[in-house]
Amino acid sequence: MKQVLSVLGATGSIGLSTLDVVARNPERFDVFALSAHRQTDKLAELCRRFHPRYAVVAGETEADALRTLLADLPGVQIEYGPQALVDIACAPEVTTVMAAIVGAAGLASTLAAARSGKRILLANKEALVMAGDVFMSAVRASGAVLLPVDSEHNAVFQSLPAGFDYGLTRCGVRKIILTASGGPFRCTPLSHLPKVTPREACAHPNWSMGRKISVDSATMMNKGLEVIEASWIFGVPAERIDVLIHPESTIHSMVQYEDGSVLAELGNPDMRTPIAHAMGFPERLPSGVADLDLASIGKLTFEPADFARFPCLALSYDALRAAGSAPAVMNAANEEAVAAFLAARLRFDQIPRLVQEVMERCDLRPVNELGCVMEADAQARAWARTLLNEWAGAVS
Ligand code: NAD
Ligand code: MG
Repeated sequence: MKQVLSVLGATGSIGLSTLDVVARNPERFDVFALSAHRQTDKLAELCRRFHPRYAVVAGETEADALRTLLADLPGVQIEYGPQALVDIACAPEVTTVMAAIVGAAGLASTLAAARSGKRILLANKEALVMAGDVFMSAVRASGAVLLPVDSEHNAVFQSLPAGFDYGLTRCGVRKIILTASGGPFRCTPLSHLPKVTPREACAHPNWSMGRKISVDSATMMNKGLEVIEASWIFGVPAERIDVLIHPESTIHSMVQYEDGSVLAELGNPDMRTPIAHAMGFPERLPSGVADLDLASIGKLTFEPADFARFPCLALSYDALRAAGSAPAVMNAANEEAVAAFLAARLRFDQIPRLVQEVMERCDLRPVNELGCVMEADAQARAWARTLLNEWAGAVS
């Protein structure tokens, strides 16, 4: 039977790779809905190729623009706004949702997919970091199937035995080892970090990704978010998750078992592999990714993660251990810091400082429902903006 697919964030890096896999496997998927924020030209092009029933954009202006572009394609219904995203995530016809909106903006629709029992292909890690408990409870209550798309979590998923959700300890797992490339500044002299430009920060050595996750990879906040993501998906505490620097990005992550065995998933650094794995699971689909040529790679290297060079890693472990609203606060502060850095209002080396100061100022609260998460998010963003203004004043 065909999977009926909504792609949230279709015009992004993950969204486009997802549709590339759909195009290679047309007998497996019907595209029900595609969403984009403001990139109406790109979305129009995708609608012409994939003929979704719905296309969703940010607001009325974008919807009008898309209607003009698609005037000759009346089969596509055009909607806009956050509720429309939720609607295409939980429509009864939909079997599968690719959650690939970046940041907190993806939370409501990703959670809606979880609550309505869909097969969720999860790229939007920020949703899980913010609202892990609420999200995982929704998955369990509805019987949704959660398949990780993030390459590290997908590798861990592939390296675990079937039925691991009965508890990793019972499966003989000692720890999860998340690999990290170390990003573009792994060896950069620390004295250069204050001068780093957005262009340098977005030039990842191995992966081609959206701008926000590229900056997160450069600060290693991305790996920190992934530690928290792994903790929720696999039900493991912070002390059983390690980060290992592996600059070649060939080993996408590993699982260490009690008997000393270490299982890993390897491949070229191309997101179409984990995307195709999640889309086809438990079957395997062609993804268009070239065969791994280990002889030409020659050597795989490893080094310990440097928590002093990358303070965002330490902050993430702190947030995970503190639990409650701490991860939501950290995530919101980071989103504000990255946006400010990309807009040249914050230096690269100030990103972890801003996140830390916001974490120190926000009260730690329990989060047992979405309202608490959104309050923590709003409080953290307000503090981040206040500090950004203060710091801008201090410089001028
Ligand atoms: P991207 O910036 O390339 O694309 C983001 C998509 O979300 C676009 O379609 C955009 O139109 C949409 N969007 C942006 N802001 C929005 C808003 N406010 N409301 C609704 N839609 C909005 O990002 P990406 O690199 O594809 O990453 C998407 C998600 O996948 C992120 O959470 C990221 O952490 C995760 N992820 C990405 C990669 C990767 O290789 N790119 C790998 C692992 C995980
Ligand atoms: Mg990743």
